[in-house]
Amino acid sequence: GEVIRAAGLGKTYAEGDLRTPVFDGLDLEVHAGETVAILGASGAGKSTLLHLLGGLDMPSAGEVFVAGQKMSALSDAARGTLRNGALGFVYQFHHLLPEFTALENVMLPVLLNGTSVPEASTRAQALLESVGLGHRLRHKPGELSGGERQRAAVARALVNRPACVLGDEPTGNLDEKTAGTVFDLMLALNREHHTALVLVTHDRRLARRLDRVLELHEGKLRQLQPDEV
Ligand code: ADP
Ligand code: ADP
Repeated sequence: GEVIRAAGLGKTYAEGDLRTPVFDGLDLEVHAGETVAILGASGAGKSTLLHLLGGLDMPSAGEVFVAGQKMSALSDAARGTLRNGALGFVYQFHHLLPEFTALENVMLPVLLNGTSVPEASTRAQALLESVGLGHRLRHKPGELSGGERQRAAVARALVNRPACVLGDEPTGNLDEKTAGTVFDLMLALNREHHTALVLVTHDRRLARRLDRVLELHEGKLRQLQPDEV
C-alpha cells in the first residue's frame, strides 16, 4: 500500500511574492518501503512539499493522506499523534535537545506515545546501537561529532518504527565521507525495517541510489530517468 499520498497539492504563501503558488496540482504517491529522492533548485519548493507531506503545514489546495488518513480531517492533536507514530523527520541540522543525552533524545518520541520509560529506554538503546552509537548513549549533542549527531537524529526519526521518514537535506551539513556513511545507514535501515524514505537532496550521486528520483521545477514534479540524474 501507499504510506503517503498527495493529490492536487497546492501551496501559496500569504506573504509570498504576488501570492504566486509555489506549486499547484501536484500529485505524489509513496509506497511502503520505497525510497524517493526529491531534487530541485533552491527555492523550488522542496521544503514546502516536505512540510505539507508531514502535516507540519497545511496546503492551500488538495489533500495529503498519511497511512490512509486525510490530514486535513484530523484535529491538530490527532495530526500530531499520527506524525509522531507514522512519520520520522530528519533535517540538515540535527535538532537534538542540547541538555539531554543521546539516549534521552531518542527516547522522547517513544515516551510521547505513552510507552513506559524502561521500554522506551530499551528501544532507544537498541536503535542507537544499530546506528553505531552504543558507546555514546550518555553523551550530550555537544559532545558528539557532526556525523554522530546526525546518526542520533536518524535513530530518533526511526525509533517509533515509522512507515516513512521525511528528510530535508539530511546529509547536507556533513563532509562527503560522513554524508555517505549516514546515507548508507538510512538505506540499511530502509532495507531492514521496510521504512519508506523521502529525501530532499542536492547530491545527485546520493539521489541516484534511491528507487525513484523526482525533480521539482517550476511547480511541477517530474520523475527523472536514470540517465538524467
Ligand atoms: P526549497 O526547499 O526548494 O529551497 P522552499 O520550499 O523553502 O524551497 O521555498 C519555496 C518558495 O516559497 C520560495 O520562493 C520561498 O521564498 C517561499 N517560502 C517558503 N517559506 C515561506 C514562508 N513561510 N512564507 C512565505 N514564503 C515562503
Ligand atoms: P568525526 O570524524 O566523526 O567527525 P570528530 O573527529 O569530530 O569525529 O570526533 C571524534 C570523537 O571525539 C567523536 O567520537 C566524538 O564523540 C568525540 N568528540 C567530539 N567533540 C567532542 C566534544 N566537544 N566533547 C567530547 N567528545 C567529543
